[in-house]
Amino acid sequence: MTELILQKNGAPQPLEPLIYDLGSPGRVGITLPAPDVPLADLPADLLRDSLDLPEVSELDVVRHFTRLSQLNHGIDIGFYPLGSCTMKYNPRLNEDMARLPGFAVAHPLQDPTTVQGALALMYQLQEWLAEISGMTGASLQPAAGAQGEFAGILMIRAYHLANGEPQRTKIIVPDSAHGTNPATTAMAGLQVVEIPSDANGDVDLDKLRAVCGDDVAGMMITVPNTLGVFEANIKEIVDIVHGCGGLVYMDGANMNAMLGIAKPGEMGFDVMHYNLHKTFSTPHGGGGPGSGPVAVNEKLLPFLPGPIVDIIEEGDDETPPLYGFVMPEQSIGRVKAFWGNFGMLVRAFSYIALHGAQGLRAVTDHAVLNANYVRVALKGVYPMPFDRICGHEFVCMGHFDEAEGIHALDISKRLMDYGIHPPTNYFPLIVPEALLIEPTETESKEACDHFISVMKKIATEAVESPELLHEAPHNAPVKRVDDVLAAKQLVLCCRVLPEGEG
Ligand SMILES: *Cc1c(COP(=O)(O)O)cnc(C)c1O
Repeated sequence: MTELILQKNGAPQPLEPLIYDLGSPGRVGITLPAPDVPLADLPADLLRDSLDLPEVSELDVVRHFTRLSQLNHGIDIGFYPLGSCTMKYNPRLNEDMARLPGFAVAHPLQDPTTVQGALALMYQLQEWLAEISGMTGASLQPAAGAQGEFAGILMIRAYHLANGEPQRTKIIVPDSAHGTNPATTAMAGLQVVEIPSDANGDVDLDKLRAVCGDDVAGMMITVPNTLGVFEANIKEIVDIVHGCGGLVYMDGANMNAMLGIAKPGEMGFDVMHYNLHKTFSTPHGGGGPGSGPVAVNEKLLPFLPGPIVDIIEEGDDETPPLYGFVMPEQSIGRVKAFWGNFGMLVRAFSYIALHGAQGLRAVTDHAVLNANYVRVALKGVYPMPFDRICGHEFVCMGHFDEAEGIHALDISKRLMDYGIHPPTNYFPLIVPEALLIEPTETESKEACDHFISVMKKIATEAVESPELLHEAPHNAPVKRVDDVLAAKQLVLCCRVLPEGEG
């Protein structure tokens, strides 16, 4: 019996049946007519007996993957308030557009003159992303938010080097930041200077002033921040960092709270990334493809990662313009093979075109309304570190006096029994027992009400029958996993391999 490894208290858990256990020798997916041409031998080195692949019918395969898909929670199944990740519904229209053969089968090595439609789409998307952020230009290269951050920090570094200031090696990061911010800084070879937040969840301005100097390359800050609140002093923060010669990077993962309302460029930011898969709806999670374009102001325009799309020859009434790929003058270079994750660019284009300016503004209005509606309804039920209006998400605490032994994780696991995906747990790090809740704009009032009533019910259960929470989830195919062990001993294969293999 082969086993799918899902560690529970260190022991592998069988999750049957695996496709490797299905089928029998000689069974095939399709039956072809007898060949009417001579048989040829395949090169021997292409055939490996050791692979031990199952011999299965088409129906076996369909059932296997359908069953697997049912083990998972997805936005298409239910509420998914995973804070910071913006698990909004992805309109099916995006998928139709990304599958149009002209986009889906275009080859990255095709001559640009033969894929002018694809280039026109990329050019327009660059323009839209620049406009939405109040920036001057954008590059679609980065393959994720984290890679956008990396490109942004390399641009900031390149800018200082070009200005003859190699001593600027420090990046200021608030303690509420997403882990990718300090990781990016370290990967770019710069030093992280962490500064604390004050009691309201804002950056502590005095602490910020104290670390600013001529060794500062810049600051990375998320707006609204990861505590779900809009930095009350954002203009001052930007001015302080600019005042000491640094540049300011905005982590744009939370743009869902600002579309059509506020522009980072107008707040003074020099560079930011978008998470197209969050704000502009592409299915994500489970490590699937991402897209993290960067947008910049005049200062950083020459340093953008490339190639970017530009107009090579202006068009007129009769002829459309000719688009081509160009490398910005002082570009930090490529950060991704070919032209970015193109399918996601099509989805984002489709989403923005579908909504238009008014629609994008409405997205944010409803995202912020939903978050505040849920927040106010849960006030007094779960402790909240800040009593102020939030952006598109808010933090509460999964631990309260009346239920001593209950922690955020227990509440999250119990939510699964009710068919709801847990919120983000234990992030942001500076709030103990944090539950970061983001309903998103695509949920109805009824869906939010249902979530609120389940959260209230769980709060009561926590006091009256805590074992229900401790033992949750009750119906999931996998119960509690040992997160620490799973992270430390990553098992990337779904089969137990014989010793020494894999
Ligand atoms: C998601 C997220 C990131 C990282 O984005 P990826 O696309 O997952 O690489 C960075 N910062 C914040 C605040 C985020 O929520």
